[in-house]
Amino acid sequence: MSLEIWARTSGPIDTQRLAAAVADLLEDGDLLVLAGDLGAGKTCFTQGIGQALGIDQRITSPTFTLANHYQGRLELNHLDVYRIEQLSDSLDLDLPELLETGVTVIEWGEQLTPELPSSHLNVKLLLDGPTDDHRRLSFSSDGAAWAGRWDALAAALEEWAEP
Ligand code: ADP
Ligand code: MG
Repeated sequence: MSLEIWARTSGPIDTQRLAAAVADLLEDGDLLVLAGDLGAGKTCFTQGIGQALGIDQRITSPTFTLANHYQGRLELNHLDVYRIEQLSDSLDLDLPELLETGVTVIEWGEQLTPELPSSHLNVKLLLDGPTDDHRRLSFSSDGAAWAGRWDALAAALEEWAEP
């Protein structure tokens, strides 16, 4: 079964608050695949996840390092694979090992989908709304990992739910 929730935010702090609400539901081994154009708010969303996991360090875009690691309530692996040109680049990251511990967030991760476990949460951010500060976010999942948490996710996102 394929599930989808739509939400909207009105600024970067709002997106971080929304992400923090999602973070409260995260479990060890979870994978979040973030999609959206440059500037859509993928890193902003990840910062909200990090804050909610109790990570004090400033989370910055790992565009050039490919992967950053932080320790909070859960470990956070933050990847940005925008510059990955070949699948073999991503294999250097040893994704299977990364995914074993903590929560992994991959910006532009949709291009890696064939290599990723099917049971991840897709978060798509769209630059869409009445002002430049508005975003629409789509949450979807196909696998089993989120099926049991879907009602809880919908409840957590209620404040931002699209009417
Ligand atoms: P990405 O990682 O998708 O390239 P960033 O998170 O680095 O995007 O940048 C998003 C930019 O958009 C930031 O400058 C942020 O302040 C701005 N912004 C404005 N409104 C929002 C919003 N509602 N959600 C997220 N970011 C927003
Ligand atoms: Mg980014």
